[in-house]
Amino acid sequence: MSSNEYVSLPMKKMPPTLEQDNKMDDIPTEPIENGDYQENMTGGRSPTGSTRSQSSGFRESPSLTEPFPKKSECLFPVLAMHICPKCEEIMRYPVQIKACGHRLCYGCYKNLLSGPAPRCPEDQMELEDKVPDTDTALNNEIMNLQVSCRNKEWNCKWEGTILEFQRHLKDCEFTDILCVNDCGAKFQKRFLQKHLDKDCGKKIISCPYCDDRHLREEKKVHLEDCPKLPLPCPNKCDKKLTIPREELEQHIEADCPRTKLMCEFEKLGCAHRASREKMQRHYKNEIITHVKLMYDLMTKQKGLLDANDQRLNQFENIMKEQNKRIGDLEKIAHSQLIWRIEDYTRKLKEAKAGNMDTLFSPTFTTSKHGYRLCASVCLNGDGKGKGSHVSVFVSVLKGAFDALLKWPFDYRVTFTLLDQTEDVNERKHIKFSIKPNPCPENEPFLGRPKLEKNASFGGAKFVKHDEIESRNYIKDDTLFLKITIDCDGLSEP
Ligand SMILES: [Zn+2]
Ligand SMILES: [Zn+2]
Ligand SMILES: [Zn+2]
Ligand SMILES: [Zn+2]
Ligand SMILES: [Zn+2]
Ligand SMILES: [Zn+2]
Ligand SMILES: [Zn+2]
Repeated sequence: MSSNEYVSLPMKKMPPTLEQDNKMDDIPTEPIENGDYQENMTGGRSPTGSTRSQSSGFRESPSLTEPFPKKSECLFPVLAMHICPKCEEIMRYPVQIKACGHRLCYGCYKNLLSGPAPRCPEDQMELEDKVPDTDTALNNEIMNLQVSCRNKEWNCKWEGTILEFQRHLKDCEFTDILCVNDCGAKFQKRFLQKHLDKDCGKKIISCPYCDDRHLREEKKVHLEDCPKLPLPCPNKCDKKLTIPREELEQHIEADCPRTKLMCEFEKLGCAHRASREKMQRHYKNEIITHVKLMYDLMTKQKGLLDANDQRLNQFENIMKEQNKRIGDLEKIAHSQLIWRIEDYTRKLKEAKAGNMDTLFSPTFTTSKHGYRLCASVCLNGDGKGKGSHVSVFVSVLKGAFDALLKWPFDYRVTFTLLDQTEDVNERKHIKFSIKPNPCPENEPFLGRPKLEKNASFGGAKFVKHDEIESRNYIKDDTLFLKITIDCDGLSEP
């Protein structure tokens, strides 16, 4: 085969658009230098074999997995010398049969070898066992044939050499590809961006409201509880208003004019219910009603307060009564009373002046259910003792158990002025004892009391003034008078 045959190769066609021009320039690893492209494009001259020998200089097992154009994809009729006699397609990596000089594809040669009695498809010459080296010159010629894109049916306008064909298919916008995010979608390469922007479920997107990042396929789930998703008010208070989900509750609680509220006077008995915006009118129109409700409540409260006051008073009285009873019980421990009289000096002075001449002791009983008695003292004396003595008396009082007791009262009564000298053995108490005589004349003193209190009896000259002021009968201006009833519990009914 002479090198003259190359001259008959068809001219490479000019690329139709600038866009495609750029794409070809963009190919990064294209072994053909830029100069070659320019030469081809401008001069349309067939490249020389010498420049191309570098570009397809494979020697060992050429790759058969890359796409390779069919003869139908060639822009011009394919010369017979470029057609394989075995597969009748453009020869791919042509090899020459040593015996007859015919050429066929590297792959076809290999296939023949794998069958029985491999021979040349043209003249039945026997083939050598070893696949010959690729016919580089012819291969370069074939690789330089002009073909269209395999995606021509999709309107890809690309045209170029077979050598560029494979590379173009990788970049061709019309080649089907799988989504780069592994979502499983298959589409033409030109739709990748659109797919990523609009459809790809595996694309990570940012929520426009809260900046959360998630897969597009999780968007719906996210929006179901995105805290910042703008939502309309469920009360439809304002058609244009949207509120971030997290603020919606607050809006309904505190702001929404359509939220239904109870009248603030609900607890006072107003059952009016209205939206927030209408409630103001209710307050304005119903002032009288509300004031009336307040008045009623206050009246009721006042009644309750009064009732409470009354109950408090009752309790107070009960307490007083109880205290008195406790006091009485303490005093009757031994049918006796020890009466503490303070402020002796002042009280004597008052008695001498004629004011407060009689002092009365607390009441006491002879036993729990016994006689009720009260002692009295005239510090400036009474009757025969007036002005010189202290007089002491006792009187029988009306008591709760009088009906059960023995009358007239005839138990011995002893008055003792207690000596307060520190040494107990040195003490000399002053005693005066009186045994009542139950004769009829003494009925006003000893009979069962008809009034609150019987007439008192005792000793007018109990103790002289100078005597009481001696020793330690008065200490700290205080004296102690003990009154004992000698009934030994016999007064108990
Ligand atoms: Zn073939
Ligand atoms: Zn042959
Ligand atoms: Zn294409
Ligand atoms: Zn995808
Ligand atoms: Zn969000
Ligand atoms: Zn609202
Ligand atoms: Zn109301």
